[in-house]
Amino acid sequence: MDYPSTEMTEDTEEQSGGDGLAKAIDPTRLGPGAPSSTPASAPTVFRIDALTAYYGKSPAVRDVTFDVPGNQVTAIIGPSGCGKSTFIRCLNRMNDVVPSFHTDGAIYFHGIDIQGKDVDPVNVRRQIGMVFQRPNPFPKSIHDNITYGLKMLGMKDDLEGRVERALKRAALWEEVKDRLKDSALALSGGQQQRLCIARAIAIEPEVILLDEPASALDPISTASIEDLMHELKSDYTIVIVTHNMQQAARVADMTAFFSLSEVVDGSRSGVLVEYDRTDKIFTTPGDKRTEDYVTGRFG
Ligand code: ADP
Repeated sequence: MDYPSTEMTEDTEEQSGGDGLAKAIDPTRLGPGAPSSTPASAPTVFRIDALTAYYGKSPAVRDVTFDVPGNQVTAIIGPSGCGKSTFIRCLNRMNDVVPSFHTDGAIYFHGIDIQGKDVDPVNVRRQIGMVFQRPNPFPKSIHDNITYGLKMLGMKDDLEGRVERALKRAALWEEVKDRLKDSALALSGGQQQRLCIARAIAIEPEVILLDEPASALDPISTASIEDLMHELKSDYTIVIVTHNMQQAARVADMTAFFSLSEVVDGSRSGVLVEYDRTDKIFTTPGDKRTEDYVTGRFG
């Protein structure tokens, strides 16, 4: 059985090696999306420019434009089906595995369009890691869950140190340090999710994408994942999809509210209604649709 390496897709298990890094993104090259200020005055990591994402002919999200600041937590909120998951998967080209999927517009990561033909998606996912709704550790030991991707990427020096640092960073070390050889599948759901975060961290990405990371977890595990986000943002840029508004209010610096458009050509698609500092979105939103959603009148 093959296990995923850097391409830690939710359900598929694809093997990819270090050779895939040949077409590296050079973050020092600046393009049309050169860094600028955001409302939070942090440097821009992603510039999303008129992004429309389609499955077949239907746009799931349409004409999305905003900047994601570095070393901040940015939350994507909105009602079910408004394209939150589709959008976050665009940020590391995870939708590439869907045959009918295509996009218009651009996603600049430090000025490089990650959808460009000369950009290797494996390298994108190396720098922009992802953690999914369901914890998905490999059926291997706790230790080997961390080392698998490292070995595939040729990051073989100081493997034990890397394992320890990643588990410490994900606030899991104290709970597992005496049983690293045990199966990851024996861990609780919350521990498994922190292991998945440790696995993502171990390959030293710059960005961590989290797609509803706590929705399958109990309240205590949810709290520890939220605490972790506060800890991690000093070193990583974090983008999180959540349907839980309290969670967005607790963890996010910036919040993007997506909703469904009116019917256009017989169908509705997700649109970005408002993007601002989280406190503004939750206290004095600029759009009535945001206000209706955050006050629970809709959604
Ligand atoms: P959300 O995360 O906000 O619930 P999604 O991004 O999952 O929204 O879905 C947005 C729209 O895209 C929905 O209409 C959904 O049915 C559609 N969609 C999502 N994934 C696929 C897919 N793999 N193939 C076709 N349509 C999809």
